[in-house]
Amino acid sequence: MSTDPKPYDCELSFEDTAIAFAGKDNKELKKAIQLFGLMNNPSLVAIGSRLAQWALKMHLPVQGIIKATIFTQFCGGTSIQECIPAIKKLQEFGVHTILDYGVEAKQEENELELAAQKLVKTVRYAEKDPDTNIISSKVTGLIRFDLLAKVSAGKSLSGPEQQEYIRGRKRVKFLCKNAYETGVQVYFDAEESWIQDAIDRIVTEMMQYYNKEKCIVFNTVQMYRHDRLVFLQKSIQKAKEGKYLYGVKVVRGAYMEKERKRAAEMGYDSPIQADKAATDRDYNAGIELCLKNLDMVSFCNATHNEESCLMLCNLLDQMEASNTHPNIMSAQLYGMSDHISFNMAKAGFNVAKYMPYGPVEEVIPYLIRRAQENTSVEGQMGRELSFLKEERRRRRGI
Ligand SMILES: Cc1cc2nc3c(=O)[nH]c(=O)nc-3n(C[C@H](O)[C@H](O)[C@H](O)COP(=O)(O)OP(=O)(O)OC[C@H]3O[C@@H](n4cnc5c(N)ncnc54)[C@H](O)[C@@H]3O)c2cc1C
Repeated sequence: MSTDPKPYDCELSFEDTAIAFAGKDNKELKKAIQLFGLMNNPSLVAIGSRLAQWALKMHLPVQGIIKATIFTQFCGGTSIQECIPAIKKLQEFGVHTILDYGVEAKQEENELELAAQKLVKTVRYAEKDPDTNIISSKVTGLIRFDLLAKVSAGKSLSGPEQQEYIRGRKRVKFLCKNAYETGVQVYFDAEESWIQDAIDRIVTEMMQYYNKEKCIVFNTVQMYRHDRLVFLQKSIQKAKEGKYLYGVKVVRGAYMEKERKRAAEMGYDSPIQADKAATDRDYNAGIELCLKNLDMVSFCNATHNEESCLMLCNLLDQMEASNTHPNIMSAQLYGMSDHISFNMAKAGFNVAKYMPYGPVEEVIPYLIRRAQENTSVEGQMGRELSFLKEERRRRRGI
């Protein structure tokens, strides 16, 4: 499975904007161009993000404007019911949906309980709809962040904290048990490095328990961390020895600035790779590793990077494996990189969109990450706007 000197010569192409934006009418296209245009202005995003957080804290009536703009672009709705038209639209073009109840970093026990109930409700919905038979969750929606940080740092928990941790783990197990009973897969997101050890341990335990016959539980590896390729190798080996199936979502990682800042402030070595090339190299090596172990690994190629998708396509060609192999999924975030999702679906790959949903104030941290990610005019994100504009030109016959 070595990569040849001209590696990406598979059939897949992302240039066809008619396919990419077939799901958008002219009005939706115009709205997306305006929004991505605004997000390409870093100072506007920085001010807007702070202003939105402040306004929500002050209970100012800003939900309406957020919902009509950035929320509609990146979220399916405030409830599962509201997501249905978006799910059906994707379905028309062969794109699946990964429902993601957008709750994170909750503090209060009743909020964490409520999140568990909502997630199980999402599993129950996903069970009925074959196009949404994967859901995603953040462990910080079920267990308090600071507790995960303490466990990850190897600090001992007080008596009440131990009880709290047991309750949190029960919530994770409750979700996985429901997923197991319904055959719905659960992707657990990767979060900040200083809570990730605890997350890895809990998710691995769930895999040991529920991934015997079918891959139900998936962990996530962030390849912007320089230790994750080795972690992935070890995790696969551990699953082989423990005789369970290994599920993994491979991503580059969303918290780079925060990770580097914390490491610099606290004086430890940054867990982040030295440069983008190193992240790309490990991302692609991670995908290759999963492919080599396809008999017991199910994986999600979760990226907006065209080259990584072309590499996957090329490796599948070389292996003479099917694009629709049940252990392989590719996914992009809802509202982003439609040119990848729709063209891959058209070429017969298993493709899904990560679709967050929930009350506007709950998904604000997610929306801010999306806006910040899209401020870069360079690379893939800038491509988004140029593809949208290209499609507008094509429709106008220019
Ligand atoms: C379906 C899906 C699920 C996701 N789930 C998670 C998740 O669970 N946890 C999570 O953290 N993120 C998650 N993400 C976000 C993801 O980690 C990336 O932030 C985002 O997808 C951009 O990376 P890329 O591979 O799409 O593309 P690219 O644009 O090629 O890569 C950008 C990424 O490269 C890395 N990078 C950029 N500059 C440098 C540098 N100088 N040095 C080192 N690395 C650099 C960063 O990770 C940056 O986000 C998810 C993304 C998708 C599509």
